[in-house]
Amino acid sequence: MVQLEERLKNISKSNVKFYNWSRTYGCEPELYFEPECEEDVIKIVELAKVNNKKIRAIGSGHSPSDLACTEGYMINMAKLNRQFEWICRRKLKRRFQE
Ligand SMILES: Cc1cc2nc3c(=O)[nH]c(=O)nc-3n(C[C@H](O)[C@H](O)[C@H](O)COP(=O)(O)OP(=O)(O)OC[C@H]3O[C@@H](n4cnc5c(N)ncnc54)[C@H](O)[C@@H]3O)c2cc1C
Repeated sequence: MVQLEERLKNISKSNVKFYNWSRTYGCEPELYFEPECEEDVIKIVELAKVNNKKIRAIGSGHSPSDLACTEGYMINMAKLNRQFEWICRRKLKRRFQE
């Protein structure tokens, strides 16, 4: 098992079993993340790159397919609601100030 830095430990779980809404598909990702901000996502992507892992995002697991399934890293996007809107606003504001 890969060694995680403190922040990644705080936002990850192992031994998670994921099932889609209808329980027709399921998987056991090696690591399951619940990022809370853009920086968390960057750290996860960097970790995946170093360890040559694939990342899948999940929403509500409502897709009637195995699209969200992975044995690599799974990212639950639930805590990122409104984050990207905020980041876009921040970037736009910065662009107009330059
Ligand atoms: C009871 C029920 C009713 C439904 N009704 C409708 C309907 O009326 N119309 C309709 O069009 N569909 C309907 N669907 C289908 C459903 O809306 C779609 O399957 C939708 O993709 C599910 O979204 P999710 O967030 O649960 O995605 P998930 O099932 O969690 O993921 C689906 C795919 O999207 C990717 N993904 C999810 N979130 C993100 C993200 N934030 N960023 C990048 N990739 C992401 C995943 O990796 C995966 O590949 C219904 C499903 C159910 C169970």
